[in-house]
Amino acid sequence: MTHILVVEDEPSLCQLLANNLSFEGFSVDAVGDGMPALAQHAAHRADLIVLDLMLPQMDGFEVLRILRERQDEVPVLMLTARGQETDRLQGLGLGADDYMVKPFSVLELIARVKAILRRTRPLDRPPVLLSGPFRFDLPRLEARRAGRLLDLTPREFRLLEILITHPGRTHSRKELLQLAWEADARPATRTVDVHIANLRKKLGDEAGGNPWITTVGGEGYRWVMPVQAEPA
Ligand code: CA
Repeated sequence: MTHILVVEDEPSLCQLLANNLSFEGFSVDAVGDGMPALAQHAAHRADLIVLDLMLPQMDGFEVLRILRERQDEVPVLMLTARGQETDRLQGLGLGADDYMVKPFSVLELIARVKAILRRTRPLDRPPVLLSGPFRFDLPRLEARRAGRLLDLTPREFRLLEILITHPGRTHSRKELLQLAWEADARPATRTVDVHIANLRKKLGDEAGGNPWITTVGGEGYRWVMPVQAEPA
């Protein structure tokens, strides 16, 4: 299992990142400062570190500097605040693999994490999934029905990805909001319904109904059909 260390001193953001990354199938450790980050990484080596720049005692630069000094090439995704342009450049100069400026979208962070991992090591999860008439190419953000490419927005694809990677599991609207929308721009749960309705329309009907995504007693949504990895 791919292991990620989140280093972020803002508890709500730290929790949000840990939850979302766990949901994506990563194992996650989360700490709030530089020293515990180095200790945790030494105890349980991470495949990637999400590293906040501004930390209470030992900042992200120092953590990164120490890692690289130790010839530790663990991929690092640096989080910076707005207006730290020079910091950003310095971060890359020190050997961060990528950076994101706060406030960022969790969607975007997950996409970046996966992109870095694809560059550095293969993903544990098969990237192409098959279900009924559908083929989902997750790295390429492509969904096809019987070979025909579906015109999905990134948000719709993200909702679809959440559902198809956990077939048979019901996701509440609140959970979908947390996983598919930005932390600080949460729309009403009704918005989830609207996006799911559009997604269903684009997936298309079969025998007069839409059997792919079911509404579960007003609780949330579930992908119904079995999902398999595409044979290599
Ligand atoms: Ca911080």
